[in-house]
Amino acid sequence: MRYPHSEILGTVAPATYLVLFLNRSKLAAEMEVMSGETPTPTELLRAHGLRVTKPRLAVLGILSRGGHLEVDEITRQAREDLNSVSTQAIYDVLAALARAGLARRIEPAGSPARYEARTGDNHHHIVCRACGVIADVDCAVGSAPCLDPSQTHGFELDEAEVTYWGLCPACRALAAQD
Ligand SMILES: [Zn+2]
Ligand SMILES: [Zn+2]
Ligand SMILES: [Zn+2]
Repeated sequence: MRYPHSEILGTVAPATYLVLFLNRSKLAAEMEVMSGETPTPTELLRAHGLRVTKPRLAVLGILSRGGHLEVDEITRQAREDLNSVSTQAIYDVLAALARAGLARRIEPAGSPARYEARTGDNHHHIVCRACGVIADVDCAVGSAPCLDPSQTHGFELDEAEVTYWGLCPACRALAAQD
C-alpha cells in the first residue's frame, strides 16, 4: 500500500509542539487561561493525575506532533528517545493516556488502531478508501452525540461515531490519470 502524500498530514516542526497542546486538550486550554502559561508535558501528566515517567513523556511528545499514529510507529519513534522500551510498555502508556483523556484511540474499519493527541472536541475523521490517509474534520455540532437517531429504543445516547469515507485529492488525481 502506498501513501503518496502522507507527509501532508504527517508531522509538524517541534517548535510548534507546545502551541498544539492548546488545540488538543481542553484541560490544557483551561490551565493556560488560569495560569497564563502554556502547560508543559510534565504539568499535563500531573494535571491529569498521571505519574510522570520517561515513556509517558516520550509518547506524549510524539503524539503532540500531530497525526494519527499506529502503535508500531509510536514504538519506533519512542525508541529514538529511550534506550529501550518494549512494545507492551508503549501499549500500557497509550492505555493510560487514553484513560486520562490525553490521547484518543481510533480504529477505522480495515486499519489497525491509531492514536492521536487531539482529544475532547468530538472531532471526526475522513479516511481515504484508496490509500488510507486520515484527516481531521471538526464536528459541525460540536459535542456528542451529534446525530439524532430516528429512534433511541430507550437508550441514553452519548456518542455517534462518525467516519467519512472517500477519495483524497492525491488519489482522485491518480484516478483521473487512468
Ligand atoms: Zn488517498
Ligand atoms: Zn483526529
Ligand atoms: Zn459531529
